[in-house]
Amino acid sequence: MSNLFNTIILGGGASGLFLGSLLRKNYLIIEHNKEIGAKIKVSGGGKCNITNKIVSENNYRGDKELVKKTLNRFSNKNLLNWLKNNNLEVIEAKKNQYFFKSSEVLVSFFKRNVKNIYKAKIVEVKFENDKFKVVTDKKIFYAKNVVVATGGISFRKLGASDIGYRIAESFSHSIIPPRPSLVRFTVQRSESWFKNLSGVGFGAEVSVGDKKFKQNILFSHKGITGPAILNASLWWDKGKIIINFLKKDVFSYFKNPNKQISTQLPLPKRFVKEFLISQNLKDKKIKELKPSEKEKLRLLNSYEFAPAGTFGLERAEVTKGGVNTNELSVFLESKFQKGLYFAGEVVDITGELGGYNFQWAFSSAYSVYLGIISLKKGENETY
Ligand SMILES: Cc1cc2nc3c(=O)[nH]c(=O)nc-3n(C[C@H](O)[C@H](O)[C@H](O)COP(=O)(O)OP(=O)(O)OC[C@H]3O[C@@H](n4cnc5c(N)ncnc54)[C@H](O)[C@@H]3O)c2cc1C
Repeated sequence: MSNLFNTIILGGGASGLFLGSLLRKNYLIIEHNKEIGAKIKVSGGGKCNITNKIVSENNYRGDKELVKKTLNRFSNKNLLNWLKNNNLEVIEAKKNQYFFKSSEVLVSFFKRNVKNIYKAKIVEVKFENDKFKVVTDKKIFYAKNVVVATGGISFRKLGASDIGYRIAESFSHSIIPPRPSLVRFTVQRSESWFKNLSGVGFGAEVSVGDKKFKQNILFSHKGITGPAILNASLWWDKGKIIINFLKKDVFSYFKNPNKQISTQLPLPKRFVKEFLISQNLKDKKIKELKPSEKEKLRLLNSYEFAPAGTFGLERAEVTKGGVNTNELSVFLESKFQKGLYFAGEVVDITGELGGYNFQWAFSSAYSVYLGIISLKKGENETY
């Protein structure tokens, strides 16, 4: 094997593999796992939620303009077309989310179509004598372009490492602190009543800042999870989140003054019981409620609490933070080092739950592809 390539892609995950399949020749992917696409394999409960019917920059945390431009070049429709053209069948399941019958379908496609993979641990990258020198624990390679597609740092057991950030820093890039995202919350003592509800779940509205998620919440023995909570974790840094446990104003459910609170609310009985205990309220007839007790019931529409924290990087579906996008061109090329690109989760762009992170991995890889094959010259963009 020659050790000189036009492009070396660091990481054989979603973005690196897609880029390799687009480049076709004169590239090398370096991956330290025995198998490529480890996260694709486990994603979406083994069915890989690849994208969503509705995708816009609003589904992402990070530089909105950059996300918009990147999605414009390779949108969810482009991704669905690419899948169709390659006979990779997906089905729309849940709300607007596209899944495979099995993630293995996509991993096998990449195994068949992306052949230039070298199994080694990336150690460092330098720029010397007009080319990149990529040092691995086995061999040294050289390239005109290097694409850092080493992902985030969540789920280390699947091969995640911070090498991408370290390489970025060695080229003077700054890193927005990486933190767990799409992850469940742990709770403080004031919310210890959540723990008695382990296994109880229902639709609610979770707000964090100006973001609202109307999806399921699920109580667990150590905290709270469910899609609405996972999404809230993307936007939460510290401070409070608010849960509206009901679809309408709490008092609009109290139609019969002679009936007890618990019989009037469209909520799981276990939940109502624990909520009332937590507020020191008795399950009494509606007509017997004192104003102060009514005030406490209002919390069902607006329960504010500050999570203690999250379940951490080992349980987080993605890492928010990463390579500072102010220092990247619209083709995700370093503003400090020509030929150095970044794709996927290593960049400070993080999507919500629902296929948005794979969409970003593919769209960002596509932008890098355009950058590498120099189509960027034809585009009228600030570069
Ligand atoms: C459990 C789980 C479920 C998920 N489900 C979904 C889902 O259904 N839908 C969705 O959109 N997103 C999902 N995600 C997120 C999604 O998997 C990632 O956002 C996506 O894989 C990022 O692609 P990437 O190419 O940037 O990084 P990755 O896919 O993580 O690829 C990076 C690669 O770099 C390799 N690497 C790292 N360090 C080194 C090194 N030093 N040397 C050599 N190789 C190295 C890694 O082994 C890895 O193969 C899920 C994530 C997890 C953990």
